[in-house]
Amino acid sequence: MNSAKTKYFLQPDAAKLCVCPLCDNFLGPSGVILSCQHMVCQSCIQDICPACGDKVTSSITIPSGFFSVVVSKPVKCTHPGCSWQGTLGMHGEQLTQHLDHCMFKPWKCNDCGIVLATSEQLQHQEECDMFKIPCRYECGVHIPRQEEPNHASKCDWAPVPCEFEQVGCKHHLHRKDQNDHATNPAHIHRHMLLLLQEIQRLRTGLSSLAANFTHANQENVEPKSSRGKGRGRPRKSTLQEL
Ligand SMILES: [Zn+2]
Ligand SMILES: [Zn+2]
Ligand SMILES: [Zn+2]
Ligand SMILES: [Zn+2]
Ligand SMILES: [Zn+2]
Ligand SMILES: [Zn+2]
Repeated sequence: MNSAKTKYFLQPDAAKLCVCPLCDNFLGPSGVILSCQHMVCQSCIQDICPACGDKVTSSITIPSGFFSVVVSKPVKCTHPGCSWQGTLGMHGEQLTQHLDHCMFKPWKCNDCGIVLATSEQLQHQEECDMFKIPCRYECGVHIPRQEEPNHASKCDWAPVPCEFEQVGCKHHLHRKDQNDHATNPAHIHRHMLLLLQEIQRLRTGLSSLAANFTHANQENVEPKSSRGKGRGRPRKSTLQEL
């Protein structure tokens, strides 16, 4: 009467019915139906049904047409957002291959617990606050992304300048080595020499300042007649010398 057939889709779960409960292989055309109506593969027949535990009293080979009907039924992927349609395949391989590689397969982030599609995994790992990343100073620890800046600010492997950097020590240290560097006799000696040089420089600077100061004062007390009319010019040249 009605020629328009509703398209019937096998649910992927239906494929599980075609899997032997004992060896987990797809039953295929060599499966048997036991007296309790469960299906196993030929090589897995035992006295007791592996699915329900009933005593097996008889078994018949699955009718040859059964699998060709089942495997040619259209199936569609049930992952949210996936539009894949296909068939089970003779041994269930078509569907399982798709399910293995489906980019819409739900993926759960182990770090923050959110469930997303597999296709979003990489992007999420770039952004997840709880995703564990290695310390930027390569100290070997992995910490949630949101805690990394705090860790980095205290990390023993953070590069720090020597405390005597201002006077010229160019050593770059890990924070953990700062104390060793400061208390090492060879470095103590070098730091002292750098301090001495600094004192020397400061002294030289001070005495030239003092000399200029005296010079400027002397020029200011010079009589007006010796140079031009105003005081402006001598003062200017003093400032330039400085
Ligand atoms: Zn089996
Ligand atoms: Zn059974
Ligand atoms: Zn899919
Ligand atoms: Zn996450
Ligand atoms: Zn670190
Ligand atoms: Zn130093």
